[in-house]
Amino acid sequence: MTPPTVAILGRPNVGKSTLFNRLAGQRAAIVHDTPGVTRDRHEADVRLGDQAFRLIDTAGFDSQAQSSLAQQMTEHTLAAMRQADVCLFVIDARAGVTAGDDILAETLRRGGKPLILVANKCEGRTSDLGDALRWGLGEPITVSAEHGTGLSELFDALAPYASDAVAEENAEEDALQPLKLAIVGRPNVGKSTLFNRLLGEERVLTGPEAGTTRDSIAAAFEVQGRSILLHDTAGLRRRRTARPAVEQLAVASALTAIRFAECVIVATDATQPFEKQDLTIADLVVREGRAIMFVINKWDCIERKAGAIGAFREQLDHLLPQIAGAPLVAVSALTGEGLSRLLPGVLDADRAWNRRVATAELNRFLARALERHPPPAVRGRRLRIRYMTQAKTRPPTFALFGTQLDALPQSWLRYLQNELRAAFDFAGTPIRFSLHTSKNPYTD
Ligand code: GDP
Repeated sequence: MTPPTVAILGRPNVGKSTLFNRLAGQRAAIVHDTPGVTRDRHEADVRLGDQAFRLIDTAGFDSQAQSSLAQQMTEHTLAAMRQADVCLFVIDARAGVTAGDDILAETLRRGGKPLILVANKCEGRTSDLGDALRWGLGEPITVSAEHGTGLSELFDALAPYASDAVAEENAEEDALQPLKLAIVGRPNVGKSTLFNRLLGEERVLTGPEAGTTRDSIAAAFEVQGRSILLHDTAGLRRRRTARPAVEQLAVASALTAIRFAECVIVATDATQPFEKQDLTIADLVVREGRAIMFVINKWDCIERKAGAIGAFREQLDHLLPQIAGAPLVAVSALTGEGLSRLLPGVLDADRAWNRRVATAELNRFLARALERHPPPAVRGRRLRIRYMTQAKTRPPTFALFGTQLDALPQSWLRYLQNELRAAFDFAGTPIRFSLHTSKNPYTD
């Protein structure tokens, strides 16, 4: 997956190439102190801490003389901007805000891509940059590309756009790593029976690896070629030893298991489903951002099975709207009924938890979602969402950019969440949003 693209834009000689080199950590572009010396557009894959993006330097147009500067800027800027997920709009703090900057600001603003305003050459005496505020991009981030100062603020501003390089590498590795699974639930719903049943039916891996010995906290086994590490919550394996029956203890041990796990099975009892403690535990799983799978156990005790699963489903969606549509299977840990659907469901939930949606696809989705159900006006002004990108996986986290987003009602976010679930098969995965508002006076 290609990382998000960051274009460095600005009028000639503001220090775009120097900034490019500084961020790329190499002498990639040819830099000279005369305006228009940099010739080609350069690209570099940049890694900052655990974030990754592709950087493009647009200094190439500076030297072309056949058309007016404003025209060249517009053409080249537009080309780079179309390609970019986010633009760094660079101005020269020493020179102050110029007419060329104004033209460029207008061009960029029309492009609708997220903009980060950067004032370069801030190492010494600087001009008053107050004029830049009228572009509505906020205070510029002050840097010196030459001296390498102010970069951490710049990285912070880029963070929501960068793809999570470490998480992605981990995701690739995780395809080979065991999936960490836990079974949680209140006492007596049948967790221990289920645990032993799963280990009994699946091929239990034995070996010198950590976590596979008899008295470790996790047991390893294999499903569809993927190994699974099942957390032994509060000694599930030792059936007859005393286990916590007190409510607080049950929740505390659930939390330990949830923190261990990537995917969590929330076990409930079909004869008393969705009690308060079940919901408390499920809510913990969601808040910790884990993939979730509901098991309705003791299915053998239900006499009128027809329609029962639909009723459970409805109840669950009503009680836990934040994860509406979460996968749910009815099983009997005692007889083994329904168990064959459990682990394939867990693998699906894990895939959804790791799923990444391309930015272009997300923005087409966003346009449709906005058209079908536009967010309400706030104080008579339209609330605008311009852009969306998936900032993270595990759990899927989406960054929204626009104006007045702080006034976006929860109900609308819930709508977007449900649409995302349906469009990209995120059922059962907690979905998170981060909202990024710019106070752009031109917007309305
Ligand atoms: P835990 O406290 O959640 O680990 O629950 P246990 O696994 O110890 O089970 C509690 C009780 O429920 C035991 O008596 C089990 O035999 C019983 N049980 C577990 N699963 C089932 C099931 O699918 N059907 C029925 N009828 N009983 C079950």
